[in-house]
Amino acid sequence: MSPAVKIPRDAQPLAGDTRYVPGLTNAGFVLGLAIDTSPDESVYEGIGVDRLGITHGHADHFSAGAFIRDMGASVWAARDDATLIENPEVNIRGMFSWAKPSDLLITRLFRGEPCKVDGYLEDWDDPRATVVPLPGHTLGHCGFLTRDGVLFSGDALYLEELWERHPLPYAIDPDLVVASLEAIAGMEYEWLVPAHGHPVSQADSLRHIEHHIRQIKGIEALVLQLLDQARTTEEIIALISADRCLSDNPAQYWLAVTTVKGFLGGLLAKGSIEFYVKGHSGWWHAL
Ligand SMILES: [Zn+2]
Repeated sequence: MSPAVKIPRDAQPLAGDTRYVPGLTNAGFVLGLAIDTSPDESVYEGIGVDRLGITHGHADHFSAGAFIRDMGASVWAARDDATLIENPEVNIRGMFSWAKPSDLLITRLFRGEPCKVDGYLEDWDDPRATVVPLPGHTLGHCGFLTRDGVLFSGDALYLEELWERHPLPYAIDPDLVVASLEAIAGMEYEWLVPAHGHPVSQADSLRHIEHHIRQIKGIEALVLQLLDQARTTEEIIALISADRCLSDNPAQYWLAVTTVKGFLGGLLAKGSIEFYVKGHSGWWHAL
């Protein structure tokens, strides 16, 4: 007779054997499989997690990773994000063009306890959940669809109400974010659990997906409109940050730098804008 499966403290049932642990970062749990982690490692004490799948390499998604691995679980992440989990310093260096920033500049989302990765999501084979690549927030970002029809979507989708607190969600490639949102809209599931916020039914999730796509298209249109006249990188970052009502602090600024550059890179690739260097500054201009 198999012993009764223990479940993490505070875990809420959603469908079948799939539960979620609500928190600043929501985590999932299906019969010993953990999906991302609760920020509070004590909820996993004595639970017997055998496998942990991580949606992406931002520290708030694997805060209890090393603790869970020490208890015997294998840790899985996409190849492109594994190095961010094994060495969170890579995120910080990437943000600052590989130079060494001071602590002042670093968002807490990028600080984390390193966690060794045992397997890549590209090789994932587990009856409890399938891996769904949802890149854009990071390059290797993935969701997990459990066999009970629950999609843990990580940071691929921001619920409508979350946009008030995060009016410019971090994205390395907004076009990929849109493609991933469209992929989610075409999937079959009962519940969607975003990493931040509350679970939503499939029907409700479509409204949130539409809102997210509309926001991205709106920001992209504004970038293009602002580039009717030539602007430096610094200027366009400032104008978009002001439009989104971001607060003036270093951590927010450096996240905005990446996201606005994501929009600029996308528009450049589509041939909508040009880039040149003049007076030792980088300039962008709509074509
Ligand atoms: Zn993230």
